[in-house]
Amino acid sequence: MAVLLSMKPHLMAAWRDAMLALDPTLDIRMFPDTGAPEAIEAAVCWSSHDMAELRRYPNLKLICSMGAGVDHLLRPPGPPPGIPVARLVDTMLTTQMGEWVLLNVLRFHRQDLDYRAQQQARVWDELDAPVTATRSVGILGLGALGSHAAGMIRAVGFPVCGWSRRAKSLPGVTCFDGDAGLDAMVAQTDILVCLLPLTPATRGVIDARLLARLPTGAFVINGARGGHVVDADLLAAIDAGHIAGAALDVFEPEPLPTDHRYWSHPRVVMTPHAASITIPASAAPQVVENIRRARTGEPLLNLVDFSTGY
Ligand code: NAP
Repeated sequence: MAVLLSMKPHLMAAWRDAMLALDPTLDIRMFPDTGAPEAIEAAVCWSSHDMAELRRYPNLKLICSMGAGVDHLLRPPGPPPGIPVARLVDTMLTTQMGEWVLLNVLRFHRQDLDYRAQQQARVWDELDAPVTATRSVGILGLGALGSHAAGMIRAVGFPVCGWSRRAKSLPGVTCFDGDAGLDAMVAQTDILVCLLPLTPATRGVIDARLLARLPTGAFVINGARGGHVVDADLLAAIDAGHIAGAALDVFEPEPLPTDHRYWSHPRVVMTPHAASITIPASAAPQVVENIRRARTGEPLLNLVDFSTGY
């Protein structure tokens, strides 16, 4: 029985080598060289793979996302009915995302956009000293990535709040949940960080209504998915001076079209969906373990709940 790998060609060889190092008996097929469809038992894939294509494999038991997010796998037509989907929960992913969030929290806290503008204009002018203990960071999503980022930001000395679907308790983090919780958190957030999964319930969550509830001068950081932000609303709030700046790693569509206003906006900092990149050698052990479990019928790790979409 074989494992189908489908992702960018340069990544496939790294994934194959990392998986074979853990289990040399694995029969790994690199898409599109799948061989007989009956042989495929598990698929390890990313957004580029067409979910309709996976319906060709009658003995498929498991689909593994090679990333933490699974919105791309769940959108229509979705995975073949009855086939479980597992996502990645990986310390290297959480570490990288924590670093990217912290980088941007500190960038905004330390007035870096203003100092860069001053440098370009050759202006020597010190701005008011920022106070860490009174700059509140609010995190949308307190899962693997959000709770880790919360710990890193808290360790620097910022007050941290977080919002999740279900009520939660995290040391040193003021936790909110539900619609009323979102409004309450946002009203006291100076730097808003989005680390939510993209689901029907979270699409467009950062819209004009939410932005208006943030205090004037607040910043927005989105490391989750482009679909969480209503771009026109964010740009309008920045242009109106209500939002002081944004750091964005994710967009809809990707790559972001070169004529989009984000590219040249002086109050927007962009990275090309690079906040947290899967490292095959780090992520392969849970994938290989899940393939073993799928074969033996043991409970799978990091399963996606189709009812919530994450
Ligand atoms: P996760 O562990 O599943 O955590 C998701 C968090 O969001 C949980 O706290 C969950 O609440 C909360 N949530 C979900 N739906 C909600 C709703 N309707 N209202 C309020 N809270 C809600 O996910 P993760 O591993 O932290 O990853 C989050 C996302 O980051 C991924 O889905 C992916 O899109 C994105 N990502 C981006 C990059 C990048 O490079 N830019 C890399 C990796 C991942 P509960 O705790 O109540 O379940």
